[in-house]
Amino acid sequence: MMPEPVLQAAAAELPNWRGRGVSVMECSHRAKPFVEMAHQAEADLRALLDIPDEYAVLFMHGGACGQFSAVPMNLSRADAKADYAMTGHWSGRAISEARLHLGEVGTVCELERSSSGARIPPLTQWRLNPDADYLHYTPNETIDGVEFHWIPESETPLVADMSSCILSQPLDVRKFALIYASAQKNIGPAGLTLVIVKRSLLSGARDGTPSILDYTKVCAADSMLNTPPTFAWYMSGQVFQWLLEQGGLEEIQRRNAIKADKLYNYIDAEDFYSNEVAGECRSRMNVPFKLADADREASFLEESEDAGLLNLKGHRSVGGMRASLYNALPEAAVDALIEFMREFVRTRA
Ligand SMILES: *Cc1c(COP(=O)(O)O)cnc(C)c1O
Repeated sequence: MMPEPVLQAAAAELPNWRGRGVSVMECSHRAKPFVEMAHQAEADLRALLDIPDEYAVLFMHGGACGQFSAVPMNLSRADAKADYAMTGHWSGRAISEARLHLGEVGTVCELERSSSGARIPPLTQWRLNPDADYLHYTPNETIDGVEFHWIPESETPLVADMSSCILSQPLDVRKFALIYASAQKNIGPAGLTLVIVKRSLLSGARDGTPSILDYTKVCAADSMLNTPPTFAWYMSGQVFQWLLEQGGLEEIQRRNAIKADKLYNYIDAEDFYSNEVAGECRSRMNVPFKLADADREASFLEESEDAGLLNLKGHRSVGGMRASLYNALPEAAVDALIEFMREFVRTRA
């Protein structure tokens, strides 16, 4: 979801961006106003996340799935080892892709499912390999609704796929070697992928790495090695400004906690709905839930859509429902969903 004021502002200036008589997407990415806008977006992102100078910020293509390859190709040799935490759908996808590029991919832990809910095993139980080049994890599993509320710090450089939780709360970037996130969950339009990487790791990717996935080359070219996703970059910059105007990530974290608590509290109190994740591992961004009567799912989805509540269908790999509560989603939308859910139970009883 995009913030309403950002959509309005973008719509208003679409035909005539910065008085140039053309839209931003008709501008050359080498034109001065575009380059200025691009630099401002980076500066605003740095301010939001308090990104230290020792980290480069890259604006790349190819989505998080592109990074599943870029990470091993930049941080490891072909016969090397890396560790991965397996906590849901997206870490599974990252592991499969890493196997194409590494000698050995260690699975340090797996999500535990039991009647008391899905749980991430504590770090003390992880099978960490001291020779691994890096440790990869997925702080928020978008599809499974599982989130780390802690950072797995170890000796090994830490890599995180933050696609669905970036900018949802303040973050200590210094704890990470590399953070990546595709834009389309919590930032802006699809097409842009953010990478925040420690500059000391930019000593060249392995032989054969496509240049557009080579962090060192992309950084040297100021993320303009080829044409970047210009419109997505511009829209993301607008979202960064909106976040700053809202009071930054502490305020966003506060609002996100209120939204998630409301929805989980309702689901837990109502027998008709259930969420199968243990309390301490629940995602504040994505709330999957099931109906006690699975035959009612189709009518739930149809009627909720008619009521203006969109995108509630769970991912095709898991079924059920999923409410995504990304930054731009107002608390009133959560209230409307709960009201609908209550009414749905009442009329079926
Ligand atoms: C959506 C998502 C992806 C995939 O992103 P693409 O941009 O489609 O490649 C990967 N990881 C996480 C955590 C996601 O939420």
